[in-house]
Amino acid sequence: MSVLIVGSTALDSIKTPTQENPKLLGGSASHAAVAASFFGPVKMVGVVGEDFPKKYVQLYKKHDIDLAGLQIKPGKTFHWSGEYEVNMNNRRTLLTELGVFETFSPELPKAYQSSPFVLLANIAPALQEHVLNQMQRPKFVVADTMDLWLNIALPDLIKLIKRVDGFVLNDSEAQQLTGEDNIFTALKKIHKIGPKYVIIKKGSHGSILSSPKGFFICPAYPLQSVVDPTGAGDSFVGGMMGYLASAKGSIDANIRRAMIHGSVVASFCCEGFGLNRTTKVTLAHVKQRVKELKQWTRF
Ligand code: AMP
Repeated sequence: MSVLIVGSTALDSIKTPTQENPKLLGGSASHAAVAASFFGPVKMVGVVGEDFPKKYVQLYKKHDIDLAGLQIKPGKTFHWSGEYEVNMNNRRTLLTELGVFETFSPELPKAYQSSPFVLLANIAPALQEHVLNQMQRPKFVVADTMDLWLNIALPDLIKLIKRVDGFVLNDSEAQQLTGEDNIFTALKKIHKIGPKYVIIKKGSHGSILSSPKGFFICPAYPLQSVVDPTGAGDSFVGGMMGYLASAKGSIDANIRRAMIHGSVVASFCCEGFGLNRTTKVTLAHVKQRVKELKQWTRF
């Protein structure tokens, strides 16, 4: 089954303590779509400007990503720039140029509206909801977010969370949303808003799922060196949704394995700038790391 992914399609300029890389292919939808494409068909919804490099369109195509929902508009592509501290965890945004995103209204081609799996990757919650409104009875809808929307669009975000099956956020966002430092208390409070599946991401410490079947503690794949973690969260949730869409059986039967696959794709994302590493690995590489993670966590 296919997964529909809406989110940002961006040019990312990234600075780490040792390197600087301008205008890489980035955005939450790009990272999530490439990650999901390891497992099955992906339909992407987004917007780029006329300056968007053709080689990036080719890269999407190389991963068989359906681009019927990608709008090309007069103007500039969304440009985001961020800088990492020495620990490669703390990041500050240097620049956000909205460009064509300012007037973006995601319109779904007819063939997209019946996609059973929907990932509302990080963009403004009102846009995420606009996509959800166009869907015909999807089987499983997951939304991701970022601190910006908690700061400037909280009522829209709450409205959206009430309507999704799964909600994914990181630990500091969970604390901001619920006022709770304790992850398990925060999970409980987020369930009260609506979603049956809540996943809290903890960067290099993995993630925790709370679901009707209980908790799952999902490890991150251990890496000795991180080149650029930008998009790791998007890769995690994209890989998870791609895996779920391709798997037979219920969500409950597959979600743990799906998270592990997402976690592994995220590890590849961290090993290169932007999508440089992820776009060079194969499903066989992913399966090898899944096998290792299984060995290292079984007891
Ligand atoms: P992550 O590292 O998982 O938090 O995701 C980083 C990605 O988010 C980058 O590729 C950015 O292009 C994208 N991004 C940054 N700011 C925004 C924003 N305000 N809206 C949507 N996407 C954004």
